[in-house]
Amino acid sequence: MISYNLDYNVCTMKVDLHSHSYFSDGVYSPSEVVEFANQASCNLFSLTDHDTTDGLIEAQDRANALSLNFIQGVEVSAIWRNMTVHIVGLGVNINNDILQKGLKRNQDLRKERAEKIELGLRRAGIKDALDKTRVLSKTGMITRTHFAQMLIHEGYCKDMKSVFRRFLTGNKPGAVRVEWSGFEEVISWIHSAGGLAVIAHPFRYRMTQTKIKRMFSEFKEAYGDGVEAITAMSSEQEINLCSNWAKEINLLISSGSDYHGWPNQRINIGSLKEIPNSVDLIWNHLSWQR
Ligand code: AMP
Ligand code: MN
Ligand code: MN
Ligand code: MN
Repeated sequence: MISYNLDYNVCTMKVDLHSHSYFSDGVYSPSEVVEFANQASCNLFSLTDHDTTDGLIEAQDRANALSLNFIQGVEVSAIWRNMTVHIVGLGVNINNDILQKGLKRNQDLRKERAEKIELGLRRAGIKDALDKTRVLSKTGMITRTHFAQMLIHEGYCKDMKSVFRRFLTGNKPGAVRVEWSGFEEVISWIHSAGGLAVIAHPFRYRMTQTKIKRMFSEFKEAYGDGVEAITAMSSEQEINLCSNWAKEINLLISSGSDYHGWPNQRINIGSLKEIPNSVDLIWNHLSWQR
């Protein structure tokens, strides 16, 4: 197996290091997602399903067939100061026991949560929520997206935004607190598997700028490696802020669309804003198979 590192101008690279298949809450198969990345002329791509690496062998196979540079990734649910924060692991060895044991813990937490969501929804008069949700999952992984789709399908809400607001967050019937592991633990799972750990979509949490910066510092203190400064919905202001904080705190910069393939999401693989000059790009610290 030969590994290559970048030896050409990073500016000519089209990179997307955050996406989902139906092994978590995406619509398409790993092969299809990789094909979309190839059609979008990505030079470097990663599939990062929530709390599972089960789609990565299929994705890697298709990437190899298309000669697309592929990074094996995963998006791990973690907790920081009572809030769920997502950590993307990039370049992970999927055969690592410590990583898989951590992911198994999160998968078990998801199963427990799904039962609690069902209970909450039942109290709100919605029957058989879990059975109705299970049929929407192709691979058995249940995410809140699946519950949301079920509720929309059953006519309780018209779109994703309102369904999360009315049923799945805050003090609403299907909102459940989960004791995900903390930064240090999740970062150590990713590092054990040889990967780099990145805070996903930092501006999507309900945090003030001061708090986001604090989170970056504590992530760094827990040996975290980078932040996703560029994601599909990022504004230029957010990208600049995030890049400046990352420089100050000595964190690497990642870029990823968080593509799920939902028809109304209006997110395309690989179409991401420009990255400011002079930041330290995470893909200069990753290697990949060809
Ligand atoms: P889970 O990891 O099962 O808690 O589900 C979280 C997923 O739900 C996220 O990765 C998003 O894909 C989706 N999600 C969370 N909040 C919203 C929202 N307000 N609108 C649409 N999708 C959301
Ligand atoms: Mn998702
Ligand atoms: Mn996420
Ligand atoms: Mn994601």
